Amino acid sequence: MSLSIQPLIDLADTDRDLQTFIFSRSQLEKQIDTASSVVNLHKKTFDEKYNERNALANECEELKKNIIIKEELISRLNEQVPKIRNEKEFAASKSQLEEARKDLGVMEEKLLELDINSEDLEKEIEKINVKLDESNTEFQQETSGLLKKQEKAEKQIAKLEPRRTRLLKKIPKNIQRFYERCQQSGISTPICAIIDKSCSGCYMVLLPQLINELMSNPNSHKNCPNCSRILYFPAEEEVVES
Ligand SMILES: [Zn+2]
Repeated sequence: MSLSIQPLIDLADTDRDLQTFIFSRSQLEKQIDTASSVVNLHKKTFDEKYNERNALANECEELKKNIIIKEELISRLNEQVPKIRNEKEFAASKSQLEEARKDLGVMEEKLLELDINSEDLEKEIEKINVKLDESNTEFQQETSGLLKKQEKAEKQIAKLEPRRTRLLKKIPKNIQRFYERCQQSGISTPICAIIDKSCSGCYMVLLPQLINELMSNPNSHKNCPNCSRILYFPAEEEVVES
């Protein structure tokens, strides 16, 4: 087949560059996702603790109200004591007072416990807040670089994609079909150079005859007998070989 090998090499090079940028774009996306997941995790913990604090504050408020009610009851009962006229009333009042005082004691103890819990929770929230701030700053720093890289990759892809389409159209139809078939079946580099006497796609050492043929006719190409990639002899390889 007579054809200039150059469009094939250009296509292979462009495609390799394009694949590199597409890969780096997907890696960057993953990195950005990972970076934000740390922030999201701290944010989630912060929200949970924040809700816990609100619930605890409500519980304290409720308890304080009940304590006031109980204290009012006790003082009312106390005020009634001088007005008691018989043993029976006295006994009833005494037991009511005892009960109320006991309840008050339990409530005050519970309030103390809730206060301690609140303090602990505040400390925890403070710590989480610091972590959240840190991870946020880290995220901003990390992703500003990543976003710039992503933008760069995006620009390169936008430039390389039309170039690839253009170059693919320049090569003969049968090679075009071969090329696309290879890529569909997962061979991302259907055209590759002979490097170190081997196919640079599958690394099989090639027969000297095949190398000699391509070397003596650098404008031709052959398929690798092992992986069937299109092989060409790169100009610089000649220098290394001699
Ligand atoms: Zn091969």
